[in-house]
Amino acid sequence: MLTTLQKGGISDASVLTVMKSTPRHLFVSEALWPKAYGDHPLPIGESQTISQPLTVALMTQALELNGEERVLEIGTGSGYQAAVLSQLAYKVYTIERIRPLYLRTRKLFDDLGYFNIVTRYGDGTKGWHTEAPFDGIIVTAGAPVLPEVLALQLAIGGRMIVPVGGADAQQMYRITRTPEGFTQENLGPCRFVKLIGENGWNA
Ligand code: SAM
Repeated sequence: MLTTLQKGGISDASVLTVMKSTPRHLFVSEALWPKAYGDHPLPIGESQTISQPLTVALMTQALELNGEERVLEIGTGSGYQAAVLSQLAYKVYTIERIRPLYLRTRKLFDDLGYFNIVTRYGDGTKGWHTEAPFDGIIVTAGAPVLPEVLALQLAIGGRMIVPVGGADAQQMYRITRTPEGFTQENLGPCRFVKLIGENGWNA
């Protein structure tokens, strides 16, 4: 997996180390274990997917974490991205809108000892007001437009990684909050399931 990640643009040594040591097979059903370390998304039930490892690594690297950050993830899914982040940040807050996935990951994080991940069931497009501001926000589902509500929950200097575009294809953006406002960088094309909620897609 490491060669694929390096060829795909991952140069951050700490991201590579965590990607290598995180047991991705434990975040998918046992029937999919033989495929767990290939660079592709896999089904996790409820018509959702665990993202491909290169995408997880690229989004994580783009957050430029140093270990002290409080990071909000929208779209817990399998829990794999949150598990990766939890080893590179101080604390991870993650929200999932599908209850069976939320319940499964909450137990999994406890079982695997990821004690700096806080989970929540609900619509992540509204963010997590009571815990804001965040040093990093990562949206792991595709938004139809830049989610302003989430951007406003960034600390000054904080970064948000978010796919934005149509239902079938998006562009990945990094939004950085500055004292003057926000800067925006396009990190390239990507493909995610829909971000569904009050500030996302209707369904
Ligand atoms: N980060 C996940 C992982 O590591 O497995 C991959 C997430 S999957 C590509 C996208 C997830 O976003 C799905 O589980 C979906 O239910 C969730 N989602 C979509 N809209 C959401 C919303 N408004 N709030 C919270 N979760 C949402």
